[in-house]
Amino acid sequence: MDTAIRVLVVDDSNFYAQLVADTLATDYDMETLTGNDAREGLDLLETSEVDCVVTDYQMPELDGIEFLEAARERGFEQPFILLTGTGSETVASEAVAAGVTHYFQKDEGDQQFEKLANQIDNAVEQRRTERKYELLVDNSPDLIAQVNADGEFVMTNEAMADSFDATPGALTGTSLFDLMPEEIAAERLEVGREVIETGETRRFEDGYDGQYFHNVFVPVDLPGERETFQVIARDITDRKETEIELKETVEKLEESNAQLEQFAYVASHDLQEPLRMVSSYMQLLERQYADELDDDAQEFIEYAVDGADRMKQMINDLLQYSRVDTRGGDFEETDFEAVFEQARDNLQVAIAESDAEITRDSLPTVVCDESQMVMLLQNFVSNAIKYCDEGSPRVHVSAERDGDEYVFGVSDNGIGIPEDQLDEVFRIFGRLHGKDEYSGTGIGLAMCQKIVDRHEGDVWVESEVGEGSTFYFSLPAGGVADD
Ligand code: ADP
Repeated sequence: MDTAIRVLVVDDSNFYAQLVADTLATDYDMETLTGNDAREGLDLLETSEVDCVVTDYQMPELDGIEFLEAARERGFEQPFILLTGTGSETVASEAVAAGVTHYFQKDEGDQQFEKLANQIDNAVEQRRTERKYELLVDNSPDLIAQVNADGEFVMTNEAMADSFDATPGALTGTSLFDLMPEEIAAERLEVGREVIETGETRRFEDGYDGQYFHNVFVPVDLPGERETFQVIARDITDRKETEIELKETVEKLEESNAQLEQFAYVASHDLQEPLRMVSSYMQLLERQYADELDDDAQEFIEYAVDGADRMKQMINDLLQYSRVDTRGGDFEETDFEAVFEQARDNLQVAIAESDAEITRDSLPTVVCDESQMVMLLQNFVSNAIKYCDEGSPRVHVSAERDGDEYVFGVSDNGIGIPEDQLDEVFRIFGRLHGKDEYSGTGIGLAMCQKIVDRHEGDVWVESEVGEGSTFYFSLPAGGVADD
């Protein structure tokens, strides 16, 4: 120990007090103070730093044990060594019960001072070690306590005391039931008793008054302490609040998404009927009154029928779009080369008419919804064929492994997309051209986006006007948990 031990020696015999103090100072390098009674001793404890008290037992007014009790009451926690000349058994047991660190007889012969110095050394060393651990516990931001089987605090750290606006000393002896709602106190005590009984640590979360805790209850495997348990509680209010907020946001989002899908479905489904009426009555008009209508009227009817047809197509596409999530198929091991063949077969007519050449790399097997993959690829390839002005379309489907996903690409030699409209094309009904230039409803790519979203992948496009475009989509190589 690098700092000298500071000892207060109290004895009503001034001679003896001085003898002890001088010996400890001269022979054992200790710093010493002396007092002649307990009152003086208490005053010195107030004003000086003391590591250990050595006190006579028999003194006028307060005896050595009463001196100890008064000092403890004032918060003095260092070791107390009791000196006595009588060697009475009753004093010894009273002294131990009162918390005296050592009990020492004055008349132990020549070696008495060496023995006393050893006792002081050991007691101070032990107290310093204890204090080190106390500090560790006190400096912890976690709420730490030892609680007995009746639910009373035996000991707490600063953080635990702070959480109840108290000091560790004031909290000792207080019951859990005085500090928290009865239900929580009862639950905690039940867990604590289980821990005492089984000797096994328990971890759980609870909360009250807007605060949440992660608790660890640990058995205390020490003689005399086995009827108690340790509580280490961590305040997780911030984390919990974020979790709750996140959960609420996800729930709201899911609800609004479901409402939107429901809306798209209902709107498209219910619009079909009145639309069917419009086009069939138009056709009836055309058939039954053809002779009475002039050319203008015939032409107007044609426009109306055409409009109704287009609207029907849009409604059908919207209906299909709204069903991507709700009517999706199972995710299974899917050979993308088979997906490619199916998409190409479905596009036979367009391929033949445009004299398109469709090629591919070797394609992997991925866990996904096969029929949606056919839809996806078919959409990209048919766009590649459709948005090609010069020469015959050349379309290539590629696939590359990138970390834990596959990135597929569908590239063409078509008209390309201006840089500032690359996002626009994925919007519902988002079209860069009029219906007279290129047919279509503008839902295809929005649906591609939704299909890829369902597979937890991404979709994007790179393009140069006049040169061509490549639509990319990624899919997790390990597959996605099927919902
Ligand atoms: P649609 O083809 O029915 O209009 P899409 O959602 O499939 O709807 O495409 C949206 C728009 O994106 C198209 O109207 C077109 O302007 C543009 N587009 C899609 N694919 C290509 C492509 N391969 N090359 C150039 N433009 C494209």
